[in-house]
Amino acid sequence: CGICTKRCPFQAIKIIGLPKELSDEKIVHSYGKNRFRLYGLITPRDGVTGLLGPNGVGKSTIIKILSGELIPNLNNLSKAPDFSKVLDYFSGTELQNYFEKLRQKGIKPIHKPQYIDILPKVVKGNVSELLKRVDETGNFEKIVKALEIENVLDRSFDQLSGGELQRVAIAAAALREGDIYYFDEPTSWLDVKQRFSAAKVIREIAEKKKVVLVEHDLIVLDYLSDYIHILYGVPAAYGVSTHPRGTRVGINTYLDGFLKEENIRVRKTPIIFENRPPQDNSNRPILLDYTDIKKTQGNFSLSVSGGQIYQGEVVGILGPNGIGKTTFVKTLSGITNPDFGEIVGDIKVAYKPQYIGTDYLGTVEELLSEITNINSSFYKSEIIKPLSLENLLESEVKDLSGGELQRVAIATCLSHDADLYLIDEPSAFLDVEQRLTTSRVIRRMADEKDAAMFVVDHDILFQDYISDRFIVFSGVSGINGTGSAPLKKREGANKFLKEMNITFRRDLDTKRPRINKEGSQRDTYQREIGEYYYID
Ligand code: ADP
Ligand code: ADP
Ligand code: MG
Ligand code: MG
Repeated sequence: CGICTKRCPFQAIKIIGLPKELSDEKIVHSYGKNRFRLYGLITPRDGVTGLLGPNGVGKSTIIKILSGELIPNLNNLSKAPDFSKVLDYFSGTELQNYFEKLRQKGIKPIHKPQYIDILPKVVKGNVSELLKRVDETGNFEKIVKALEIENVLDRSFDQLSGGELQRVAIAAAALREGDIYYFDEPTSWLDVKQRFSAAKVIREIAEKKKVVLVEHDLIVLDYLSDYIHILYGVPAAYGVSTHPRGTRVGINTYLDGFLKEENIRVRKTPIIFENRPPQDNSNRPILLDYTDIKKTQGNFSLSVSGGQIYQGEVVGILGPNGIGKTTFVKTLSGITNPDFGEIVGDIKVAYKPQYIGTDYLGTVEELLSEITNINSSFYKSEIIKPLSLENLLESEVKDLSGGELQRVAIATCLSHDADLYLIDEPSAFLDVEQRLTTSRVIRRMADEKDAAMFVVDHDILFQDYISDRFIVFSGVSGINGTGSAPLKKREGANKFLKEMNITFRRDLDTKRPRINKEGSQRDTYQREIGEYYYID
């Protein structure tokens, strides 16, 4: 692509070349010679401006620039960044006005950063003290209730789980009084219910203020955004932001993989959600038969209705955090025993845990080679390539980033020759592109190996794409959980969406699920007839 002289290590370069029209003058920021370059910026508009694109193409960099944390160097690496040059560069555009006001403190940006794990190191005091300190809106009680953080108010930051920390960080941003709000990946670690409460808080801010959002959960992005900027490029090498599109068209264009106006293909094949009934596997051999299961752990009690699992099916497991989804999967895999209940089936089980250990000493290649022959053409085309593992094979497992480790853990699980695969929260830490390819990999594996897959995940688009049936969990977090028998897709989705209090429709072109606007005619009608899932 002309960025470096070496052979490009990024497979993506085969699909995406650096477009000719991207001259050096269009570089807004460069992290150094032969390092990442950002081409173009976005102009925040009223409402919610969504940023959609893979990891490593500059989404967080854009947010840092617009929130005033990073002065863009315009690819001038010899001198310190100069704000007046930035104003000249954007002269005559809305961004000139924006940066001028930003410099004169006429705009107050509020930023919920992507990486929140540093908060415990820098924040003093407990959650309640921090939130009261930053509260400029007087909405403390309302926001604490909306994000359900009442129970953690007395805790210090190092006692918070990822999901709790995320909700506190969102609350801290929402309580401040600013002119423009930047939310960088607000749904990481959150379950579906928490994602929608967070989305509602963000939506309410957007009624009065501008909001810019980076999000990999396409249902949440679609629900929240008024406009979408697609970003493309080669991760860690360069990123390009495109002009704004309406949300529906923007997401459909991304799924299609071809950006017409830019004449750029970001993916070889489109992602299509088929308007087909889910696969009916009930005439296929039964793989696993289990009775009602009961299990108590400390103060928590779990009860799951029995069921039969067939060869070749993907069973999606849906439900809030802390109600026994992981415990159930561990029970099926034989890691823990139920107090009551029986699991019948002489089967081999492979398990991808929710929390992935990094204690393996060795490279990714060594890890995977211990399980299977990673040089077979099947393995290369079905696992290595779609999960983009080529460039990770020589890395030490302990050095991998969250998203890399997740892909390696998924590959490790699928490398086993098993009859039943239990995959606990595979979409965590993955970007939108990786989620889409991972769902394809899992789906194809189920079809090709005649195996069954249990997939616990909070990304509903992902679940809708891969699952044939659903098991729906409900209950009180940390106290009790009830799991349904495996339900037909429509029945399961209906039960789950009713509990989430949202209704769905299908997009006419891509058939992807979209949330109906609350109180719209369609929403009201679907609630009336009890069809929370699509009506075709
Ligand atoms: P995204 O949010 O889209 O995942 P980022 O904006 O965080 O992407 O980063 C884009 C690229 O810039 C990354 O691949 C990373 O390699 C590089 N990068 C980010 N921050 C720095 C930095 N402070 N110094 C050098 N390179 C950086
Ligand atoms: P989910 O996967 O739905 O988030 P889990 O199955 O991980 O839920 O946990 C359900 C509940 O059981 C949680 O409240 C958790 O605190 C509790 N729990 C999990 N493991 C143990 C254990 N080993 N001892 C006591 N309680 C546990
Ligand atoms: Mg980022
Ligand atoms: Mg879990």
